[in-house]
Amino acid sequence: MSRFQDEVELVPRPAFAIGVCVWLAFFLLMFLVPIGHDPQLRNWPLAGKLAISVLPGLPLFFLASLVGYVYADAKRRGMRYVMWTWLAALIPNAIGIILYFVLRDPLLLNCTQCGAQVRTGFAFCPKCGGSLSHACPQCRRAVEPGWTHCVYCGASLSGA
Ligand SMILES: [Zn+2]
Ligand SMILES: [Zn+2]
Repeated sequence: MSRFQDEVELVPRPAFAIGVCVWLAFFLLMFLVPIGHDPQLRNWPLAGKLAISVLPGLPLFFLASLVGYVYADAKRRGMRYVMWTWLAALIPNAIGIILYFVLRDPLLLNCTQCGAQVRTGFAFCPKCGGSLSHACPQCRRAVEPGWTHCVYCGASLSGA
C-alpha cells in the first residue's frame, strides 16, 4: 500500500489540478445541461443524477493523472520524458500509457559513493568511478553474486 502511495505522490500537482478541472467541467456540463432540460431526467432520484454527472469525467481525471505519472516516472528513470508525456497524452485509448509501462527502463540507482544516478547493471559509477556491484576481475563487467564464472569472458569468479 505504501508503495502505491509513493507512486501516487509522484504525480505532479498540476496534473492532478488539470484532472480535477476536466472532471469538474464534465460534472457541471452533465449536471446543468441534460438534468436541467430533460424532464425525464429531472424525475430521477438525486443519487442517479449524481452518478451520471460524476462518472463521465472520471476516466479523463485518471487519464490526466496517468499522463502526469508518466512525465514524473520517465524523468526519474532518465528516459525521454517530454516525448513519453506527449505519447501518453495524444495516442487515443490510453495506448501511449500502456506502451510506456511495457517499454519503460528500470529505475535508476544512486551511487553509494557520490550519489549520482546510475542505471542498473552498471559495474562502476560513470561520475566517480566507484564500484557499484561485483565486477569480473578480468573484463571488469558487472557480474551477479551467485555466479562462479563471468558470463562475458568465462573467467573464474571463485576468488572474487
Ligand atoms: Zn559515484
Ligand atoms: Zn569477465
